[in-house]
Amino acid sequence: MKPIYLDNNATSQVAPEVLEAMLPFLQDFYGNPSSMHTFGGQVGRRVSQAREQVANLLGAAPDEIIFTSCGTESDNTAIRSALATNPGKRHIITTRVEHPAVLSLTARLAQEGYRVTELPVDAEGRLNLEQYAKSLSPDTAIVSLMWANNETGVIFPVEEAAALAHNRGILFHTDAVQAVGKIPIDLRKNSIDMLSLSGHKLHAPKGVGALYVRKGTRFSPFLVGGHQEKGRRGGTENVPSIIALGLACDLAGQKMETENTVVKALRDKLENSLLIKVPRCRVNGDRTQRLPNTSNISFEFVEGEAILLRLNEYAICASSGSACTSGSLQPSHVLRAMGVPFTMAHGSIRFSLSIYNTEKDIDAVIDTMPGIIENLRALSPYWEVGDSICAGVEG
Ligand code: PLP
Repeated sequence: MKPIYLDNNATSQVAPEVLEAMLPFLQDFYGNPSSMHTFGGQVGRRVSQAREQVANLLGAAPDEIIFTSCGTESDNTAIRSALATNPGKRHIITTRVEHPAVLSLTARLAQEGYRVTELPVDAEGRLNLEQYAKSLSPDTAIVSLMWANNETGVIFPVEEAAALAHNRGILFHTDAVQAVGKIPIDLRKNSIDMLSLSGHKLHAPKGVGALYVRKGTRFSPFLVGGHQEKGRRGGTENVPSIIALGLACDLAGQKMETENTVVKALRDKLENSLLIKVPRCRVNGDRTQRLPNTSNISFEFVEGEAILLRLNEYAICASSGSACTSGSLQPSHVLRAMGVPFTMAHGSIRFSLSIYNTEKDIDAVIDTMPGIIENLRALSPYWEVGDSICAGVEG
């Protein structure tokens, strides 16, 4: 059975055109792009073309793009490079709601003696720019703020934040893994120094990403080896995936309008219908400054994992905002940072759509979800109690 796939922030389907474009580079055109011979040189030219395609989507120059293996590598490279090129500075600024690709690294760096500021967010997942500005100091080596949150879709004002950092001569990196391809980005219009993206979030395969490094930014490579990527990232290029990423960026540029009209309308239909049809549920995160494809909804007094299992029976794929760690269900660090009440945070589900979703997909979820929640609540020992307690509070 073909799934109803609403988990595109986790990973996305490889676009059919993208798959077709990359296949010859797994079969016939296997030359090394750095080779002197024509056979390899033609591959090198296609890698250059892919670099141009990625740069075009971002408003960057091709030589500002470094191909990497994933978003995680791009994030790690950016932060480590900023620290290596500013050896006198020991302060890092980030937020509590970043992806583990940033937070696990900054936790490690804190152990190594760096001072790390993890800025809080408000109940809607928003950043306070004044508080951010106050945290900037002469000792700050790097600011790393995500462009859009993977769980809630909330968009941070990274362009304003980058300008504030720049005025103080501080490097600014953004993890734009969830933003690229979904909202317009033009790096000619801001002062962002480094930006991470990942192929598998925008219909290219897993295992390829890119790091944008603004011309003139001092840079220290994370992977040292051969002279690939002008010595900025060693390792023979993952040619088929790079070709795929280039075309995926091209297509994302062409389909940006669809993403922000058609996909957004489907997301809004799903969200508004569930809010009407299911009692005691709410949307997590600012509904205005948000990615067009993402909806994070909490269903009070039910476990997210239980909802996912039931959805799975209908071949509906989504994610929950809790992670089962060592036998206990912990709400996600993002929802905790937003102060979402426990009874709500436990029952949160993230739906993330793509251009491949149809009205039929959304209608299936709208038809299925109310029954699933009603059923699970009927089994929940907390529902009766919770319902009457909360009804009392409301009354
Ligand atoms: N940053 C964000 C915001 C993400 O959502 C993800 C993946 O979920 C990553 C970084 C890591 O990307 P990758 O899976 O390519 O390493």
